[in-house]
Amino acid sequence: MRKPLVVGNWKMNGDKALTESLCVGIASRSNRLRNIDIVLCPPFPFLYLADACLKKSTVSLGAQDLDANTNGPFTGQVSASMLNGHNCKYVIVGHSERRVNNAETDQLVSRKTQIALEHHLIPILCIGETTEQRKAGQTEQTVIHQLQNVIDHTGIGAFNDIVIAYEPIWAIGTNITATPDQAQEIHSLIREQLRQQDKKIANDCRIIYGGSMKPENARELIAQTDIDGGLVGGASLNSDDFFLICQAALSD
Ligand code: PEP
Repeated sequence: MRKPLVVGNWKMNGDKALTESLCVGIASRSNRLRNIDIVLCPPFPFLYLADACLKKSTVSLGAQDLDANTNGPFTGQVSASMLNGHNCKYVIVGHSERRVNNAETDQLVSRKTQIALEHHLIPILCIGETTEQRKAGQTEQTVIHQLQNVIDHTGIGAFNDIVIAYEPIWAIGTNITATPDQAQEIHSLIREQLRQQDKKIANDCRIIYGGSMKPENARELIAQTDIDGGLVGGASLNSDDFFLICQAALSD
């Protein structure tokens, strides 16, 4: 059985006060969510504070990105070992906003995934198609290409320690959530791609959905056979909404 996972990606939002209230708002109720894994990914400057607020809870800390290098002259970048130093357990790699806004290529995403693994961070590998690609009937090939690029770099065995997030770009921050059928179709395709390379990894690997997940639609999405939780952006900035999404995952 795959343990459900719900991840909050705050993106470039919040301040110290919000960090404290969101962390405490979830951590104080986390004893009611013991059968799922919960991860909060604040912006880098708030990792220290978030770590302190989450200390006595079962909620884990994650980062939104990392650099592909271990250290050196990379002004403004943050390394895997720095994330280790803040007790991060997870790190998002290849989020579409970084692929688009920061021109991150499949190759760079693969290198980031590898460096995260080498530092015992669990990569949350984001893959997904644009509106244009979906309209052109290229969803499957896009997603498989993005996934296979990482498999070819890390080896299939690494997927024992990787979470995949299917995030159709047209659904991110748009309030246009993929229907449960649309999402399940691609999750099942992703799992099949893993299965062709390793059956056990395909069965065990968690594939979470991201794209306008809300308390109102989370239950039905996560109830799908191949959807193991959610990567939540906007709704993770409200602790009550995020808690309701976690509860929806719990009852799956
Ligand atoms: C995301 O940032 O990964 C995301 C899914 O955002 P939202 O939930 O706001 O669509």
